[in-house]
Amino acid sequence: MLTDKLDEKVSYYSKKQQEMRERKISAHELLTWAEAVTCATTQHPHPWAAWNFSQHFPQMPFEYRRSLIKDAIGKARSYLSNLAHWQKAGKKQGKPGLPGASNHPTLYEGTLRLDLSESSTRDRFVRLKVYTGQTWEWHNYPVRASRYFEQRLRDASWEKQSPRLVLRKRSAELHFAQTREIQAKKVVERKQGPDLVTVGVDLNVKNLAVITVRQHDKIIQTVFLTDHGLDQARYRHLKRIAKKQHLSGKPVTGEDSNQELWRHVRRMNEDAAHKVARQIARVCASYPGCVLLFERLRTIKRRGGSKSRRLNRKQANQLRGKINQYAKDKAYEQGIVTIEVNPHGTSHYCSHCGAKGERFSSRGGVWMKAKGGKVFRCPRCHYEANADHNASKNMHLSFYQKWHWQRKAKAPSRAAPSG
Ligand SMILES: [Zn+2]
Repeated sequence: MLTDKLDEKVSYYSKKQQEMRERKISAHELLTWAEAVTCATTQHPHPWAAWNFSQHFPQMPFEYRRSLIKDAIGKARSYLSNLAHWQKAGKKQGKPGLPGASNHPTLYEGTLRLDLSESSTRDRFVRLKVYTGQTWEWHNYPVRASRYFEQRLRDASWEKQSPRLVLRKRSAELHFAQTREIQAKKVVERKQGPDLVTVGVDLNVKNLAVITVRQHDKIIQTVFLTDHGLDQARYRHLKRIAKKQHLSGKPVTGEDSNQELWRHVRRMNEDAAHKVARQIARVCASYPGCVLLFERLRTIKRRGGSKSRRLNRKQANQLRGKINQYAKDKAYEQGIVTIEVNPHGTSHYCSHCGAKGERFSSRGGVWMKAKGGKVFRCPRCHYEANADHNASKNMHLSFYQKWHWQRKAKAPSRAAPSG
């Protein structure tokens, strides 16, 4: 079977070990093999009967064929390893899905020509060899690039990667990734540095991010990034979506479809994520060599509530994930490393004395104890602060493992000495 081929072992002679060894078949060897069994050549005149690629797709440029095979090998391998992990974990949910043709293939050298030297964006084209239904022809397509892409293009330290083909319902896009090698010192070394600046980011729903900057055991800057009513606005949209679905009894299609609304909601989230991530990166930029701290994301679970409320909660969680990812990427471009700290206790304990605190929220002008309340109060040292601010401050302590509230023993990272 094909799966066996993907797992095939190849023997080779190891010079270092001075012996015959085995390794997994390489992607390149698989490509050669796949071409041999699917394409008629003088060396292999008889491909597998039902798999004769040259017969099914005559004149298809070989660069495309190779791109597709390479891509398929990558997808099949990652699917098999995901499946093995999933089986090992013994979970019921989350079975990895079979890879499909709609997942975006990478186009390698030779399948396209891109010239961005033309200064006017209107004169820029990507030349692609496309199939018209009868023949393969070169065609020109206009190029659109963001100013960030252009900036990186001019910067020699950025490398342009082979593009991915992204097929949408009515359009097709080529996405060019750009990469750069970043030099960053090991965090373990830098933790010892007395002047290290840490930037802690607590992600929440209304206070999208509370950023605290700490050096020499002191908070030297605090930035609150609020959502400017995003959560409310999104909730209203989701309410409309849920109502429409409820009226029709099923997800509606066509004219009355919710697609437009969903697209709007997603765009709102995407915009907010990029904006907040840029602001986080900007704070980091003013402290070169700092370490950016995020909490390992936990999903904010709140059971119950209406359907629109549940949908909104889900979107809020996705937004936090996006902010986390984008901020990490943007910081990394500046050589700033991100560390994920243990989220345990950051929102429950006092950032001053480490005692367990209480959360309060205002109900009609009266402050009452409430789970997830806005205000944090410490019963021991009477410290009082915005709860998200307190959590953000705690992240630095979590990074330096100075917390008093750290769960004792049984920490998996500190294995007991084996006898
Ligand atoms: Zn306290």
